Amino acid sequence: MERDSLALTPEEMRALGYRAVDLLVERVDPRAEPPIRRAAPSELARLLSKPPPEDAGGPEALERLFRDVLPYVARVDHPRYFAFIPCSGTWPGALGDLVASALDVYAATWLEGAGPTQLELTVLDWFKDWVGFPPEADGQLTSGGSQANLQALACARELRVGAMRDDLALYVPDQAHSSVARAARVLGFRPDQVRVLPTDRELRLRPETLAAAVDADLARGLTPLVAVASAGATNTGAVDPLSELAEVARERGLWLHVDAAYGGFAALTERGRRALAGIELADSLTIDPHKWLYQSFECGALLVREPDGLRRAFEIVPPYLGDTVVGEGEVNLGDRGIQLSRTSRAFKVWLSIQTLGLAAFREAIDRSLDLAEHAARRVEASDGLELMAPVVLGIVCFRRRFAAAEDEDETARLNAQLAADLAASGIGLVSSTTLRGRFALRLCPLNHSTTREDVDAVLDFLETAEPATDAPPLLRRGRVDDVRDAWLVSAPEEGDARAEPGDLMALELFADVPPKNLERLARLATVRDAAAGALLVRQWDAARELSVVLEGEVEVERDGDVLERAGPGEFFGEIAALDWGHGYGYARTATVTAATPVRLLVLPEGTLETAMRLAPGLAKAVERAVAARLPG
Ligand SMILES: *Cc1c(COP(=O)(O)O)cnc(C)c1O
Repeated sequence: MERDSLALTPEEMRALGYRAVDLLVERVDPRAEPPIRRAAPSELARLLSKPPPEDAGGPEALERLFRDVLPYVARVDHPRYFAFIPCSGTWPGALGDLVASALDVYAATWLEGAGPTQLELTVLDWFKDWVGFPPEADGQLTSGGSQANLQALACARELRVGAMRDDLALYVPDQAHSSVARAARVLGFRPDQVRVLPTDRELRLRPETLAAAVDADLARGLTPLVAVASAGATNTGAVDPLSELAEVARERGLWLHVDAAYGGFAALTERGRRALAGIELADSLTIDPHKWLYQSFECGALLVREPDGLRRAFEIVPPYLGDTVVGEGEVNLGDRGIQLSRTSRAFKVWLSIQTLGLAAFREAIDRSLDLAEHAARRVEASDGLELMAPVVLGIVCFRRRFAAAEDEDETARLNAQLAADLAASGIGLVSSTTLRGRFALRLCPLNHSTTREDVDAVLDFLETAEPATDAPPLLRRGRVDDVRDAWLVSAPEEGDARAEPGDLMALELFADVPPKNLERLARLATVRDAAAGALLVRQWDAARELSVVLEGEVEVERDGDVLERAGPGEFFGEIAALDWGHGYGYARTATVTAATPVRLLVLPEGTLETAMRLAPGLAKAVERAVAARLPG
């Protein structure tokens, strides 16, 4: 008899399945463990880096997964995991995933998955209803917010203009999620086609800012394509003024994409709906069930207002899929995005909401909002802590005041140490961020099992603990610059001369640079002369170079107001020259003209971060200037 070498008997399936359930239920309550456990790569390689066995290992492999792999994770579902965006699923949701994968459910075509397709359409209809989208809007469940953002931008371009063009421009608030920049990069938007726009003191994109940037591009004959807005920015939870931005976009013919990946499901509560007012005006909307709808990874969603919009943007039917063509009322969800073979992510959403009831989800979201407000009140009432941003949607940014800290760097170092100490203590976990150049701890109580005592325990620690000096580096803060280096460094402008080490040596900014580095720096830079009155850069331009005045004076103006004059040793362009993400940067936030004949040392696009590595004095000065000069 022929043998299926991969099959188990029903008895074996049951035995292994029951064992898996037992092991899972034991682990589902994470309170027994610390929120994070790091491991050395060498330790894990020793445990796990082995060739595949030729012979069957049997049930022992399952035990090993629980013994050798699962202990080494951050419990993102831990009630005291307040870092990044926590995720806490539900048991019925997990079973939805199990069913979908055990039965290899295929949710790409109606032919092969009519039931799962209808279930996904139903779930999407719920989402549309919750955020106020019209029932005829298009939609798809995705792997997450990143895929949804990518598909939204691709869909906007396909429906509005078709293939990529040089004249298209994209507008992104500086608080937008990095996946928007990654999407732009994947779609081939060049750095000069993406305008990162400064947000205001509350980290919201002002409608006037968007309007001014778009109008400047229209005046130049460019085609403004998409404006992105945040409805719950990952940094602070800030919600951009969506109704006003929608109006600016509508008047100028732009597509408005609203990224509500983490914040969107707050619409299930009254407070959330108020905070998200205007979300229903988006042309497309990203909303992640695997964040605030308590679904396990992976589950994101994209809604597109235009009926059939996603299909028109993505549908391709090759000969070998000709049998799957749909009839009246049927839908091929695999034609609504970039993924063909796809499982049903609707199973978990549907099963968890059917089993537990929507009221339970509303209640959990409401409780998260309560906890964030409670934390905010505690921070405000504390002498030792200060709030760093308004608390809108379940994220609290704050930090400890250290009276002895001399400057921002010292405050940041001590607070980062506190966060690391907290992680090492096993009491809880927060992450950190930078807001307009100022360090902030970030507490995000989105877990449905978190209690007020959990929040208090973490705040107690952060309010009172003395930063250690020797805590293990459970949290390491830093940035990776490699991505920036991958972008083309633009060629020097015509007429520029090569810089010499002597040009730099005269400047205070480079006083601490060793001669070897000075030569490398000089090779990056050029020298440019301009006549009095020359326009050096215009507000909203995409120019990404940093200029240091060597001789003469320049005049800096913003929105028509003269801000200052800058002379020898001073610089401009640092905001736009710094990488915001994936090679994109801010649009110029000021117009600069030569007040006298000037000579400038120019660090061309793509060189500033290398220059900052070579010249610590320059790095400090640039960081300080960015924090001080960001408009808002
Ligand atoms: C998390 C997040 C994303 C990215 O979503 P993934 O599901 O991680 O791909 C995008 N935008 C916002 C606002 C987010 O919070």
